[in-house]
Amino acid sequence: MNTIVKKFSAYILAIALVLGLFSITGVEADAETYMIQVVTLEPCSLWSQPNTSAPNKVKVLPAGYLVKVYPNYVLSTKDDGKIYYRTSKGNYILTRCVQTVPKTRLTDGFVVNSSNMATYQALRQQQEQLDFQEMVAPYISNPAAQEAALEKKYGVNVVIPSAYMKTPTSYAMYVSYMTEALSMISPEWVSMVAQVSKQQTGKKLTISIKEYEGIHLGGTQAEGVYNPSSNSISLASIDSFTLSHEIGHAFYYYCKAKTPNFSAKWTSYNNGISYVGNNYYNVNFTYAMEACFFSDYSMKDANEDFAETCAYMFYGYTEELVNGTAASKPYLAKKVEYIRKLSNQYAGKRII
Ligand SMILES: [Zn+2]
Repeated sequence: MNTIVKKFSAYILAIALVLGLFSITGVEADAETYMIQVVTLEPCSLWSQPNTSAPNKVKVLPAGYLVKVYPNYVLSTKDDGKIYYRTSKGNYILTRCVQTVPKTRLTDGFVVNSSNMATYQALRQQQEQLDFQEMVAPYISNPAAQEAALEKKYGVNVVIPSAYMKTPTSYAMYVSYMTEALSMISPEWVSMVAQVSKQQTGKKLTISIKEYEGIHLGGTQAEGVYNPSSNSISLASIDSFTLSHEIGHAFYYYCKAKTPNFSAKWTSYNNGISYVGNNYYNVNFTYAMEACFFSDYSMKDANEDFAETCAYMFYGYTEELVNGTAASKPYLAKKVEYIRKLSNQYAGKRII
């Protein structure tokens, strides 16, 4: 639900980085002409292998760090759909955690100001088009087969409306975006929720894209919706954070139905602070609240709180931050621990 804010911040950050590019030090020095430069959008891990298993973690780079990488994508050895760049120093970094810094003069003394803003935007657009072609290319030859493979991998239905399939390119684009979005969420967790929610509802978990139709909820526009009776998620745009939040709702309904004392236990981790319903956006988020809730939206009700906590726990950009955040916040730590326990319990094995 904070995705618009997040995307906007990323854009502001990108501008700020270009403005301040040459005050950033620590650029990897052994650049070759065939390498490209990327900048971390958030704290990003470096991995010794294209595989995010703990023993492969080299270190975490802060946001705004410039790294030289080879332009070719490297697929995960874990078969989890994650995509990496190989750095000039032989490590790996998730492509989704970084943004390409356009070649040309943008990295070579280009400082954006009001008179060259149009040039800057044109160069960025050019780079985005190249990124787009590179991303969608592997899906163009047979998007239907790629979609079917994705559905099989996670045990879900993916619905891309036929209106979006007018050309192979647009169909391939939606399949590639959905593949990317799902790859950023813990695959074991997605599969487990798909399985248990199907058991409970008798219906396969469905993920539908409603990009142009929009999603209307009581007069307001929503980013995503989960419908427990049809076991279906609708997304206004393909966004991993929103998707993991909606999958969190599916898990909430299952846990509520199958776990003794679930609601009482969950709210006992609120340190006596009550949910505020639709007033959440008026809440002055205090330190005491921060110790129990990941976001002000979490304060709406138990269902949103649970979904929001899942989104932070299982979304690739934030999962690493969760441990640090929760460690210093005992009530949040209890919520994280409880969701871990439930996830492992209902998966029938340790998945987190
Ligand atoms: Zn929600």
